[in-house]
Amino acid sequence: EKVLLSVQDLKRHFEIGQGETLKAVDGVSFDIVKGETFGLVGESGCGKSTAGRTILGLYNKTDGNVLFEEKNVHKMSDRERREYLKKVQMIFQDPYASLNPRSTVLEIIAEPIEVHKLYKSKEEVKSRVYELLEDVGLNRDHANRYPHEFSGGQRQRIGIARALALDPEFIIADEPISALDVSVQAQVVKLLQRLQKEKGLTYLFIAHDLSMVKYISDRIGVMYLGHMVELTTSNQLYDNPLHPYTQALLSAIPIPDPDIEESRERILLEGELPSPIKPPSGCVFRTRCPQAMSICAEKKPVWKEQEAGHFVACHLFN
Ligand code: SF4
Ligand code: MG
Repeated sequence: EKVLLSVQDLKRHFEIGQGETLKAVDGVSFDIVKGETFGLVGESGCGKSTAGRTILGLYNKTDGNVLFEEKNVHKMSDRERREYLKKVQMIFQDPYASLNPRSTVLEIIAEPIEVHKLYKSKEEVKSRVYELLEDVGLNRDHANRYPHEFSGGQRQRIGIARALALDPEFIIADEPISALDVSVQAQVVKLLQRLQKEKGLTYLFIAHDLSMVKYISDRIGVMYLGHMVELTTSNQLYDNPLHPYTQALLSAIPIPDPDIEESRERILLEGELPSPIKPPSGCVFRTRCPQAMSICAEKKPVWKEQEAGHFVACHLFN
């Protein structure tokens, strides 16, 4: 098991004026092993997208480290950085917003290939684009059309083809199915799984709930207000969730099969997500935690390995 990406106590803060700081990511650690899918889950505003962008190097880090193949992402030379941006690609939530509406599908997918000067002739680029279209379940007849001519699911396929153009090793997928109809979500997930097998890809799969992530992730990290609160294998997280926030997220998943009676008791979280500008003292989850104790306001819980490979930050386990 080779660690491909190592995120070590990563912090990304934004100075927002008047001496205030938004702590979008405030000390997050995890490793991603080559070939796995790591799910990063949390409500919007928890810092998961910021974490993804900081890993890609789109944002500077405030503190901590991101190592890719043991190289520090934020200390790379220009040449190393160009290589890194070939190996790591991003897929976005809204493929429509991320595809230039005035470019044809051919131009959209060919752009990264041309930027990195990977092929010499126009013909070579074209046949590479045709190949990529077939990889994602589209075909060469789609090449001369424009993004608005496609459905949401097809547009996400175009976004995926573009992300694959440079033959990456690692893909950060930021809520790639959240904007799609439920019926289309499963197709896109299947496509991502097939491509992972065929091309030996590693995924960081960002999602706002646990419903689909279960099926694609090998391991899952749960984030709340800039912090990682629990991390373990997908199975362990579902069978034995330890953190009260994880338990609440799991209880919110609808049971797909009505014959299955063993549904979880719904845990409703009271109150709003606090502002990451003024996070609660002690445990950041305490203002909404059904099990909060007095120590939770006083002391930050320690990130602790409760059983092999199963990490949790909560005073119930400290
Ligand atoms: Fe709840 Fe306290 Fe655990 Fe935080 S540390 S999740 S407030 S029990
Ligand atoms: Mg987001």
